[in-house]
Amino acid sequence: MNFDYSDKSQNLIDRLQAFMDEHIYPVEQEYIDAVHNNPNRWSTPPMIEALKQKAKDAGLWNLFLPEEYLPYGAGLSNLEYAPLCELMGRVMWSSEVFNCSAPDTGNMEVLARYGSEEDKKKWLVPLLEGEIRSAFAMTEPAVASSDATNIETSITRDGDEYVINGVKWYTSGAMNANCKIMVVMGKTDTSAPRHQQQSQILVPMDTKGVTVIRPMAAMGHYDEPVGHAEVSFDNVRVPAANLLVGEGEGFAIAQGRLGPGRIHHCMRLIGCAQRALDLACERVENRIAFGQPLSKQQSIRERIAQMHCDIEQARLLTLKAADNMDRYGNKVSKNIIAAIKIVAPKMACNVIDQAIQMHGAAGTSQDFILAATYAYARTIRLADGPDEVHMMQLGRNLIKDANA
Ligand SMILES: Cc1cc2nc3c(=O)[nH]c(=O)nc-3n(C[C@H](O)[C@H](O)[C@H](O)COP(=O)(O)OP(=O)(O)OC[C@H]3O[C@@H](n4cnc5c(N)ncnc54)[C@H](O)[C@@H]3O)c2cc1C
Repeated sequence: MNFDYSDKSQNLIDRLQAFMDEHIYPVEQEYIDAVHNNPNRWSTPPMIEALKQKAKDAGLWNLFLPEEYLPYGAGLSNLEYAPLCELMGRVMWSSEVFNCSAPDTGNMEVLARYGSEEDKKKWLVPLLEGEIRSAFAMTEPAVASSDATNIETSITRDGDEYVINGVKWYTSGAMNANCKIMVVMGKTDTSAPRHQQQSQILVPMDTKGVTVIRPMAAMGHYDEPVGHAEVSFDNVRVPAANLLVGEGEGFAIAQGRLGPGRIHHCMRLIGCAQRALDLACERVENRIAFGQPLSKQQSIRERIAQMHCDIEQARLLTLKAADNMDRYGNKVSKNIIAAIKIVAPKMACNVIDQAIQMHGAAGTSQDFILAATYAYARTIRLADGPDEVHMMQLGRNLIKDANA
């Protein structure tokens, strides 16, 4: 594998870095204040719309969509996108400015790959334009959803429609006032083989019977204005054409979408961890304790060195996973995608935790991004599959391969 960035990637890195320096870092506090002072906590502050237009004008838009989806997106490979996603990860809300935020990215990829022409016109184009947002509803409060075969929401055919009943939670994005469409996973046939019972269906947020029950907190944060909703579906009727691909294809679609989604989280987490290390290096140089800067303490230097090593290891594994996905496809790359999903969130938690420690009380405060970033990293040890499930699957595959 070639570790150099392609010219295309380097050019975009330089432009994205310049954009972050000019338009994002200077308004970090302004954004936080805008969210806190917003009369409607679930509406996106207007300053984001202005930044989105600037990013579009600068050609920094839809960078996540790989070449196979051209003319949609920038046509970058996963490897080319990795350093860009990392840069966005340094300021968590900035992904939306470039139309590269989860869960929209995964949903756009699903719509581009599996949507009908009608679906693309109605939902994919406005998503690509950044006019609307979307959500992905799989997890349910009533069942252990790390095993997606447990999902109980029913999707029942009735003439030209499907009728949906069930309760979902942690549906990220569904609290947002601009969220117009959900991709919902449920069961169409409970008598089919275990992995062919599930289907995915498009449900507009304003469909009769869809109720947002409450916002769910994640580590004490409600993540406004995006949020994670608990949503009930009571006899929700949508046209039969809203079903993606066909009955029983839900699991296959989910596997396809989670590959890129997982690696995007990892790329962002590398950015979160690198920013935490950069902040720690600055802090320990300027904070005096026991007559000298903290940076003079051997234990601080060792921990800074270890943080750097941990980030670099995870970064290289992420790049290798991205390269494998480009060369061999998502399915064949499942082991390395699992590996990086195991490594990156834990690495980010550890690195950010160390940075918080070096900042003292300030590390837990609203004056630094560290506490909120830690909460994000911690939740990614669960979202898109908990660590243990990836370890179970990776371990199983490795043993099987070794004995083949
Ligand atoms: C901030 C946040 C955002 C999220 N966004 C979304 C979203 O947009 N859409 C969506 O559908 N879901 C979302 N989720 C939900 C997430 O995907 C689930 O929480 C996750 O899949 C685990 O399911 P569960 O919570 O039901 O845990 P359970 O299935 O109840 O599992 C509990 C714990 O059991 C352990 N465990 C499970 N299996 C094994 C095993 N084989 N061996 C050992 N231990 C095991 C793990 O530690 C696991 O955390 C989000 C979650 C969070 C926290």
